Parts: sequence; structure tokens; C-alpha cells
Amino acid sequence: MTRKIFLLSFDDGTIWDRPFVELLNKYHIPCTFNLNSGLEDFVWEFEGKPVIRQRLADTVEQYRGHEVASHTLTHPWLNSLTPPALRREVEKDCAVIKEIFGLKEIGFGVPFTACGEREIHLIRKYVRYIRLSEYADSFALPADPYHIPIHGLYNDPDIREKIARFGENDLPASLFVMAGHSYELEMLNHWEYMEELLGYIQGLGFETRTTMDFVREFYP
Ligand SMILES: [Zn+2]
Repeated sequence: MTRKIFLLSFDDGTIWDRPFVELLNKYHIPCTFNLNSGLEDFVWEFEGKPVIRQRLADTVEQYRGHEVASHTLTHPWLNSLTPPALRREVEKDCAVIKEIFGLKEIGFGVPFTACGEREIHLIRKYVRYIRLSEYADSFALPADPYHIPIHGLYNDPDIREKIARFGENDLPASLFVMAGHSYELEMLNHWEYMEELLGYIQGLGFETRTTMDFVREFYP
């Protein structure tokens, strides 16, 4: 029997995570939400509309059944930081999120891109795993939990074809990580599209997991 593990990893923790969680729950698909605890009041614009974040202390119930992970305190470009600044961004965010959500260990989703070996080396002592922003070149499991790639963004034009190819791969164990941001669902009017995509994914019978559940099983 082959194992096909399918993960969702969504970043930034905006107010549209709430309706997205409701949609995910309808399809019984878990997701990992990567959150910035230092940006609760920060509003930016996407497609000319304000993107609004949530107060994390108000979201504990909302994310139940899913995973929350660190995405740094303030979403910097990691390769622009000195080691002490990078440590602070990760250590503080992890501590705050663990405290709010009552977690013993925590994962990490890289903000933007540009997370090289220097950054991985500094981050890994605070976290159980690191999800990078680079695309994988295969569905093979990563060599260790600090190099988890992504395989597609939910709105990549060829996402269905990629997922179909994943479904046909014959590795003994394989991984597909689909990433995105819930504010895109709202701003780009993708709610119906996403619902169809979730139904498609569910219909293929993959093992849908949180990233932490995947890591605990395959990298004990
Ligand atoms: Zn982000």
C-alpha cells in the first residue's frame, strides 16, 4: 500500500481564516495556519482592499481541529536579519503562540522566501519542523523535517494537474503540500473555486493531515 500524505499550509492569520476553517471542516480536511503574533493590529492592502488580522487570543476555538504554527513575530525577510534579530523573531513568536494555544511544541512556516541553511540552522532549535516556501522537485518525503517544501499554491493555474499527478505517483510514501492565504479567497473571489478544489482533493482519498501530525509520524 502506498501512503499519499496531503498537507494544507496557509499563512498570515487574517480574519478570513474563520470562514476558511468552516469550509475545511465541511470537507473534514485539516490545515496548518502559520501566524505572526506581533502583527495583530497591522493592516495592509491587497488588490486595493484592507487585509485585517485577528487577535490570536480570540482564535483558540476557531482553529480547533487544525494546527497553528509560527510564521515569525513580524514577517520579515529572514535573510535580511542578524542572528540575534532572527532568533528573536522566531523565539518570541513561538513562545507567544505556544502560550496562547497551550502547545508543547510548535512548527514554523517561512515568511516570504529566502530561507537558506544559515537561517534553518538558527531556527531549528526552536521548532519541530520548518516549512519552506520553495517548490519541491518531486513528491518524495524530505530528508528531514527542517526542509519541508511546498508543491503548489492553491491558485496555481495547473494545481489540479499537479494534484492528479501526485495521485498517480507510485512512491511507497509521498507528500503534497498545498499553500496559500485565506485573504486571497476573499480578495480574488475564490471561495467557490476553493470549495470545488477541496471536494476534488477529498475525492482522491489522500491522507489529509496537519503538518505536525505528518512530522510526528514520519520523523519521530
Ligand atoms: Zn506570510
